[in-house]
Amino acid sequence: MSKKKKNIPLPVLDRHASLVDSHCHLDMIDDGLYAELVMDRALAAGVRAVITIGIDLPSSIKAVAFARRYAGVYAAVGIHPHHAADLTDAALAELARLAGDGRVVGFGEIGIDTVKDYAPLAVQQSAFIRQLQLAKRLNLPVIIHNREAHEQIYELLKSHGPWPAGGVIHCFSGDGATAEKFIELGFYISIPGVVTFANALLLHEAVRAIPLNRLLVETDAPFLAPVPFRGKTNEPLYTLYTALKIAELKNITLEEVAAQTTANAQKLFGISV
Ligand SMILES: [Zn+2]
Ligand SMILES: [Zn+2]
Repeated sequence: MSKKKKNIPLPVLDRHASLVDSHCHLDMIDDGLYAELVMDRALAAGVRAVITIGIDLPSSIKAVAFARRYAGVYAAVGIHPHHAADLTDAALAELARLAGDGRVVGFGEIGIDTVKDYAPLAVQQSAFIRQLQLAKRLNLPVIIHNREAHEQIYELLKSHGPWPAGGVIHCFSGDGATAEKFIELGFYISIPGVVTFANALLLHEAVRAIPLNRLLVETDAPFLAPVPFRGKTNEPLYTLYTALKIAELKNITLEEVAAQTTANAQKLFGISV
């Protein structure tokens, strides 16, 4: 029997509703005109704000430039654990300077990644702690990259807390109990397109367990495209598929997911949508 690929049409959001892609990398999609097209079609379909995230100094500079150039785009600056070795004193000072731009609404992405150890763990931990301290001083919410490091990150956030400006565990991949621990520290949990994968059973269970008022949605574009674009280039527009899957898992409407996750993003990042 030949298996026919399912054709899933783009979910249609009520024209009064909005979604926020809380985490993407516009500069990795494209440096110029194509990114503008990507933003146009996201905005037209109701994804009315995106936060484009820095992973090192050059991409943080680009994130701020994108946010200044395009309506609906906000920026976060920071050094990803893969690039933790880049966090010199000068880099930290430059991040602080960039964060002063009015379009910068978060600090990140920062964290620990034990899957791809591009930087030694001790270097990742030190870069994470120094950036957490800077974010706290700047009163910016922190955007946490957490790959197979739930326990370590939890302990560091706990010992360096409290976090009055809040934060988000982006691209969440844990279970409901793990999410609950981060929520107790005041964090939001951001769900990526992975939730649309049939085998993402742990994430399905987590989404059912996490209260809607602690959830955000994201693409992490150009990575991790949801079904039906799995394996292709992701873009902010596809936040719609992730939100629809959350609606299905929680047995509520797409518009309810949109309204609450957008309110959450507005509250955390202080953005207007
Ligand atoms: Zn990440
Ligand atoms: Zn990312």
